[in-house]
Amino acid sequence: METVLITGASRGIGLELAKKFIDHGYQVIATFRGEPSKSLEALRASNAITLHELEVTDSSSIKKLASALEGQHIDILINNAGVIGAEQQSFEMVETEAWLDTFRVNTIAPLLVSRALLPLMDQATNPRIITISSQMGALNSSSMGMYAYRTSKAAANKFMQVLASELKPKGFTVCPVHPGWVQTDMGGKEADITVQESAKGIISLITTLTLEHTGTFFSWQGEALEW
Ligand code: NDP
Repeated sequence: METVLITGASRGIGLELAKKFIDHGYQVIATFRGEPSKSLEALRASNAITLHELEVTDSSSIKKLASALEGQHIDILINNAGVIGAEQQSFEMVETEAWLDTFRVNTIAPLLVSRALLPLMDQATNPRIITISSQMGALNSSSMGMYAYRTSKAAANKFMQVLASELKPKGFTVCPVHPGWVQTDMGGKEADITVQESAKGIISLITTLTLEHTGTFFSWQGEALEW
């Protein structure tokens, strides 16, 4: 049985991924910050999930998680936790601290979490590191505004591309995935697709990824996207 660790699993895409991975017969390690949501707590009824606290921007929290998981192994790490970030993100309004806070969650945390958990993935036959990124960070797009969010995801994509090259000799598949525009607290009610559709697509993709796919930016539908 393969084990998947999902960050930010209290709600939204992370919660739905946790539910669906359990349904697919995976062992799930789900992380939350503060207290787990009622919906995440309810998944404990299954023996296939364990819950752990993780504030992804806090290095001592990351270290605590890695220690708590010592002796276990992880096949798939999904860096899902993310924020839309700074309240004011226009060219005129974006400010340094709020911009940096957005980077802390969306860009730097996935690297720190991946680094801390990497030793637990050594035994996996097909280790995969996924970061839920966004096409809003794609360099080929000419869309405007949302400076903090777009740049944080563009930088996350770049770090994933570099990591893919670095970990390829060790057999790791490393891919950022765009989940679609999804009806969550972040995506809003007007978004294109439901969280169930997004999670279903992401899982179909992740469960078929192998080393030949490493360093590809994928959509939730499994299409290779331009960076
Ligand atoms: P939600 O806002 O619904 O959920 C975000 C999750 O991330 C929550 O569980 C939240 O925890 C967690 N989180 C945020 N900050 C931290 C932190 N510092 N430490 C630990 N956990 C944290 O977002 P979505 O489910 O919509 O988004 C999931 C991912 O998908 C994000 O990376 C997002 O950027 C990406 N994405 C989403 C799109 C969409 O349309 N929804 C489109 C493109 C990309 P808590 O509940 O405690 O706040």
